[in-house]
Amino acid sequence: MNIHEYQGKKILKSFGVRIQEGIVAATPDKAVEAAKELQKQTGTSWWVIKAQIHAGGRGKGGGVKLAKNLDEVKQIADQILGMQLVTHQTGPKGKKVLKVLVGQDVYYPGESETQEYYMGVLLNRDTGRNIIMYSPEGGVDIEGVAEKTPHLIFKEEIDPKVGLQAFQARKIAFNLGLTGGAVKEMVKFVYALYAAYEGTDSSMFEINPVLKTSDNLILAVDAKVTLDDNALFRHKDFKELRDETEEDPIEVEARRFDLNYVKLDGNVGCMVNGAGLAMATMDMIKMSGGDPANFLDVGGTANAKRVEEAFRIILKDPNVEAILVNIFGGIVRCDRVAQGIVDAYANIGDIKVPIIVRLQGTNATEGKALIDKSGLKVSSAIALEDAARLVKEVVG
Ligand code: GDP
Ligand code: MN
Repeated sequence: MNIHEYQGKKILKSFGVRIQEGIVAATPDKAVEAAKELQKQTGTSWWVIKAQIHAGGRGKGGGVKLAKNLDEVKQIADQILGMQLVTHQTGPKGKKVLKVLVGQDVYYPGESETQEYYMGVLLNRDTGRNIIMYSPEGGVDIEGVAEKTPHLIFKEEIDPKVGLQAFQARKIAFNLGLTGGAVKEMVKFVYALYAAYEGTDSSMFEINPVLKTSDNLILAVDAKVTLDDNALFRHKDFKELRDETEEDPIEVEARRFDLNYVKLDGNVGCMVNGAGLAMATMDMIKMSGGDPANFLDVGGTANAKRVEEAFRIILKDPNVEAILVNIFGGIVRCDRVAQGIVDAYANIGDIKVPIIVRLQGTNATEGKALIDKSGLKVSSAIALEDAARLVKEVVG
């Protein structure tokens, strides 16, 4: 689950990371109020107005702007709120901005000693260890740095047995070119950032830029955070961080039914029991010349009701031209699933796309017989090759 910059910063602060302070606002008037409050709290007299969307690259896209007085705060907030912000991470349609973060300006004007670094904590799935990735060349062009000067991207891997070590935090500070008091500040920053990543069970914490001011303060100016969905049950208070306006509407609905659904761009919808079989099925669709429209694992308790809910979800996607149901009957009995399909057909009504059902395992023959007998526009198969051939016929 992704969260907004202002939410990520609040988490960082609670773990002791110094941040660019800010207050979130949903109208230009509230933005002005926020700016005044921030002036009271921090003494700032300039502000930065930042679009809150779940995507990076906002600065380049015109979603981050400096305001030097309260009139400008209002004017810029008015301009950014409601805009359809397009960045290299949003896709061509962009994302509608519903909130802005009014932040204190932390770049002292005319300062040459202000430095922007990049720092991210994430899981290296190859080694099964967390890594801190960092670069002295942070800022809005970090993708360019990774491409043109990859030697300026450093990695520090954390051994889970001993956790982040002091020498590692110091090494990071030195590689970033820090000296004097800034080293100690950076060590504190790295420790607090890593504690935030671990303490929230996140899969990514990306801070770009990390800023060093001329008076050696190190602070997080941005925060891009992905919380691990599978750990959310351990953090009940994170529920309120979810912003459904940022998510795919079909995925939001699938979650309501507790269905494990991920929307993809293809044309063949699939309904499968078990995540491994679902992945194999998606491969099979590809090899048959189709493209999966989704990943959907109906789980081990695929009863008639869940089958119907799954059909409804798959059919919401207008790109779906065919549906492949691939069920391996173990505890789940194929005849029950078949009955579920027949019922879903009757209850939903007007299903226009062809459905291919492959049932294998417990009571597969009975299941196939039920479907063949139903007179519905459903092709059934028991062997996977037959199902693949049917997919090819339908989408080819
Ligand atoms: P992103 O473009 O979505 O990554 O958004 P960021 O939060 O990283 O902001 C983009 C850029 O805006 C940063 O790299 C900074 O250069 C600039 N910026 C952010 N905060 C301030 C600020 O307080 N003052 C000034 N002058 N620039 C800022
Ligand atoms: Mn950024």
